[in-house]
Amino acid sequence: KKASIGVTGLAVMGRNLARNLARHGHTVALHNRSEQRTRDLVEQFGDEGDFIPAYSAQEFVDALERPRQIVIMVKAGAPTDAVIEEFAPLLEKGDVIVDAGNAHFADTRRREAALREQGLHFVGTGVSGGEEGALHGPSIMPGGSPESYESLGPLFEDISAKVDGAPCCTHIGPDGAGHFVKMVHNGIEYADMQLIAESFDLLRGALGYEPAQIADVFRTWNTGRLDSYLIEITAEVLAHTDAATGKPFVDIVTDQAEQKGTGRWTVQIGLDLGVPISGIAEAVFARSLSGSANLRAASRGLPGPSRTPLSGAAAETFADDVERALYASKIVAYAQGFNQIQAGGAEYGWDIDLGAVAKIWRGGCIIRAKFLDDVSAAYAAEPGLPTLLTSGDFRKAVEDAQDSWRSVIATAVRLGIPTPGFATALAYYDGLRAERLPAALVQGQRDFFGAHTYRRVDREGSFHTAWATSERAESPA
Ligand code: NDP
Repeated sequence: KKASIGVTGLAVMGRNLARNLARHGHTVALHNRSEQRTRDLVEQFGDEGDFIPAYSAQEFVDALERPRQIVIMVKAGAPTDAVIEEFAPLLEKGDVIVDAGNAHFADTRRREAALREQGLHFVGTGVSGGEEGALHGPSIMPGGSPESYESLGPLFEDISAKVDGAPCCTHIGPDGAGHFVKMVHNGIEYADMQLIAESFDLLRGALGYEPAQIADVFRTWNTGRLDSYLIEITAEVLAHTDAATGKPFVDIVTDQAEQKGTGRWTVQIGLDLGVPISGIAEAVFARSLSGSANLRAASRGLPGPSRTPLSGAAAETFADDVERALYASKIVAYAQGFNQIQAGGAEYGWDIDLGAVAKIWRGGCIIRAKFLDDVSAAYAAEPGLPTLLTSGDFRKAVEDAQDSWRSVIATAVRLGIPTPGFATALAYYDGLRAERLPAALVQGQRDFFGAHTYRRVDREGSFHTAWATSERAESPA
C-alpha cells in the first residue's frame, strides 16, 4: 500500500501533523533528515494509524501515491530550500510540494515560480495553532494553484479544526497568498495580545487589582463578545501562582517580550504596501521597547505623574470601560489587518475572499474567537467592504464604546500607564472619520521646501506656489 501524503521534517510540528493525518485514516509516509526522529515517531505513535517510515529521499518518494504530495515542515529559510532541492529532482509532473513552515510569502512566490517551471505544484501554506493545533486540528491557509487544492484540499480540510461543522481550511489564492495571510494572522495576533496586556496593566495600575482578580475579570469577559482563545489563556496565566516564590506568575517573569519575526514582516510589508496597520506596528514596537533593557534602565528615573488609583464612581465603571475600549481597539486592529490582506491581494493579483479567511480563523488558530463569526458575516454581506468599522454591528460597538474608549485612554495618560495599542487604535479611528486632516498642511510644507506640488479642493490639476518670492504666486505644475 502506498501513502496518500508524506511529511518530511518530524520535529514537533511535523510529527503532530503526521499523527493528525494518520489518526484521520490517511496513510502517511514519514521522513526526516536525521533518522532518529522518524524511528521515534513510529516507536511512540505507530499504533495511531498507518505510517510508512522512509530513511532516504528516494524511499520516501517511492512510498507515495501519484500525484505525490509532500509536506515539508522544517525550519524556515535555507533549510526549506535545501529540502526542496533534495526532493524536486525525484518528483514528476503534477506532484505537489507543500511548505507548511513559517515562510516569508516572497520566498514562497520565488519557490512557486521555480517549481512551476518544472511542472510541479508548490503550495505555501500557513498553519496556525502551534503543536496542539497541529495534532488536534489547526487552521490551515494553503496558497498555490487551484489544481493542487483538488487533491490536497480534502486531506487538509479533514485534519483542520471544525467550527459549526465547517473546516478551518480554504484555498486562499495563488502562489504566496497562503503565507501572506498567515503572516497577517500573526500580525493581528501581536496586536490582540498587546491590547489584552494593556487591559491588564490598566486594571492593575488604575484600580490596584491583583493578577488573580484580573483573571476573574477576563473570565467574565470571556463569556461575552470577547470570547476568544487569547482571553481564555490570559486568565489562566494571570491566575497562575509561581510555585517557588508563591508570587503571581506574571510578576516573576522578565518583562521583555520576544518575537520570532512574523509580526515584523507584517509591519515591513504594511509599509511597502502603504497600509496603515498601526495597531500591529505598535504591538511590535512595544515588544521592542520592552526588550530595550539598557534604554529602559537609563530612563527609569524620568519624571511622571503621581499614580493615584481611581476611586468612587470612576473606579466602579472602569473595568466595563476597559472592556468596551478593548473591544473597539480590537475591531480597529482586525480592520487594519484585513485591509492589509485586501491590499496584498490587489498588489499580487490574489483575489482573496476575506469572509472565508475570517471563517477559517474561527477555530484552530491562536486568534480564534467568537468575534470572527461577525467579521466573516460582514465580508460575506459586502465583499468589498472598505473597512470593518463601517459594518453594522461593528459600527454600533464602536459607537457604544466612544465615551469609554476615550476616558480609558485619558485615564492612562493621566496616570502615566503606557497604552500604545489603545491610543493608536483611537487615533486611527479619529483619523479615518475626520472631515479634514492636517495632511493639507503637510502638503503645503512639502511644496514649500521641495516644490512637491499640491492639489486643490476646488480645481483639477497640480499646483506649486513660488514660496521664495514675495508675491507667492500660484502656477499649475
Ligand atoms: P524546527 O523549526 O525546530 O525545525 C526542526 C526540523 O527542521 C527538524 O526536522 C530538522 O531536521 C529540520 N531541518 C533543519 N534544518 C534542516 C536542513 N538543512 N535540512 C533538512 N532538514 C532540516 O521545527 P518545528 O516543528 O518547531 O517547526 C517547523 C516549521 O513550522 C517551522 O517553519 C516553524 O516556523 C513552523 N512552526 C509553526 C508553528 C505554528 O504554530 N504554525 C509553531 C512552531 C513552528 P533534524 O531533525 O535532522 O535536525
